[in-house]
Amino acid sequence: MVCRLTELLVDSHWRVVIIGAGQAGLSAAHYLWRDGLKPGRDFIVLDASDGPGGAWRQRWESLTLGSTNHIADLPGFPLGAPDPSVPASEIVTDYYSRYEKELELCVVRPAEVAHVTSDDTGAGPLKLTVMLDGERLHLTSDYLIDATGTWTHPYVPYVPGIAEFEGKQLHTAQFREVEDFRGLRTLVVGGGISATQFLLELATVTDTLWATRRPPNFTAREFDGNWGLEVERAVRSRTLAGLPPASVVRTTGLPLRREFLDGVESGVLVSRGMFDEILPHGVHFPARPAEEAVTSEGLGPSHSDRLALPQSWQPFPEERIEEVDVIFWNTGFRAALNHLAPLHLRTREGGIAMDTEVAVRDDHRIFLVGYGSASSTIGATRAGRIAARELLKRLETTDTAETTGHENLTTQAPGTEAADSNKATNSSEATNRDAATAGPTSDAATASPPTDDESVPAVALDAVPQAQRRAGATVSSAPAAE
Ligand SMILES: Cc1cc2nc3c(=O)[nH]c(=O)nc-3n(C[C@H](O)[C@H](O)[C@H](O)COP(=O)(O)OP(=O)(O)OC[C@H]3O[C@@H](n4cnc5c(N)ncnc54)[C@H](O)[C@@H]3O)c2cc1C
Repeated sequence: MVCRLTELLVDSHWRVVIIGAGQAGLSAAHYLWRDGLKPGRDFIVLDASDGPGGAWRQRWESLTLGSTNHIADLPGFPLGAPDPSVPASEIVTDYYSRYEKELELCVVRPAEVAHVTSDDTGAGPLKLTVMLDGERLHLTSDYLIDATGTWTHPYVPYVPGIAEFEGKQLHTAQFREVEDFRGLRTLVVGGGISATQFLLELATVTDTLWATRRPPNFTAREFDGNWGLEVERAVRSRTLAGLPPASVVRTTGLPLRREFLDGVESGVLVSRGMFDEILPHGVHFPARPAEEAVTSEGLGPSHSDRLALPQSWQPFPEERIEEVDVIFWNTGFRAALNHLAPLHLRTREGGIAMDTEVAVRDDHRIFLVGYGSASSTIGATRAGRIAARELLKRLETTDTAETTGHENLTTQAPGTEAADSNKATNSSEATNRDAATAGPTSDAATASPPTDDESVPAVALDAVPQAQRRAGATVSSAPAAE
């Protein structure tokens, strides 16, 4: 849907801007709308992609609905039970597209927010610089809901020699199909579920080798009702302390599924440790004595003092060079928050200190939804709801404090029909939908593990582009992919 607001955005002011129209942004938009805020008048959604679907729009064909963990419903509009053999990218893109129409959301795209700045006092409106269809424009907003996910920020660790590799390098975000690898000896790097699933797929067309920094985090822990809660609690304890979220797989662990057990048995899912240098046609593994293996260093529910599947960890005992044609980095993603850098929200540890799951401690105008413990579809949906509610409270306080002069903020934005009818209609639906979308506790209890991952040493976020530059054209900083 082409948004008719596009030409009216220049120098406009908004009460709320939502950045990103994935699960998190759509959920936040829903709850604002449901409580009476009107899209295109009180708030606007900007999205860098050229169509609906968020990150799911970009995912590879063999990732079908049947092979994902679980895609949670958007609030008030169930996904239903689509064919599990259809690519998730098609299903979710169609689902989000229908949702945007239903809510008359009028998402502006392709609109990439390049920077968000503020005056020195940290008060007053936030200033956004937006690249809209190649044109740079500016707008301001009282509040920001940032729902930019991680997909546009793939992470590749720096390993000496990375720029000299003469074979092919790619990241999860660039994978299209296994046929691209036929006959090419492929080194898969990373210990998460993407790496393990790709290894099993690739082994049908070529010779593979698996590298992880830590022992694979297979976990015997049952994925029962409490599991989701424990995963989220473990991640949240880091973000509340201002630490960056740990890799997904360190907390969720890898399930002991039949196909994984078979993969370990056949030798495909056996990690040989981590290489320390990349050569033009291969990689160098240092010697790693077997007795070094202790635990997988899992966190939260996947923590254990011993390996659940010790056979999956067989680092080379002596140093050795392995020739490979492809290095396939399944080393995860980082929160795509570079556009907020001018606000200096990062702690010394590299995280963003949070007051709650969604509220940024050092700037009360900004909410992060889909960040940290909310980076699954179920978490993103919940975070959208919590952020919208908290924001509405803050708006009420502001509106009460400023009964004159500022009361007609909405008239500064285009499309000024009365919103009250919207609120009246929506409030009765609200009660029913609340029941359908239960609180954080019950959400989390049924959470499925997100599947991005990494098991290589974390480097500071700022170092990522550098590592990617060193990787040459094969591993890009990826916004172009969206
Ligand atoms: C390979 C893989 C598989 C996964 N499988 C599952 C699964 O099975 N189940 C599950 O629950 N979760 C899964 N996850 C996690 C999943 O990505 C999230 O659940 C969900 O997609 C996140 O939604 P989101 O709205 O936070 O982000 P996204 O879907 O990434 O949406 C973010 C949107 O923001 C836009 N954007 C980014 N930067 C900007 C900017 N500067 N300006 C404007 N717009 C911007 C993007 O274009 C995008 O449209 C998986 C993750 C990966 C990597």
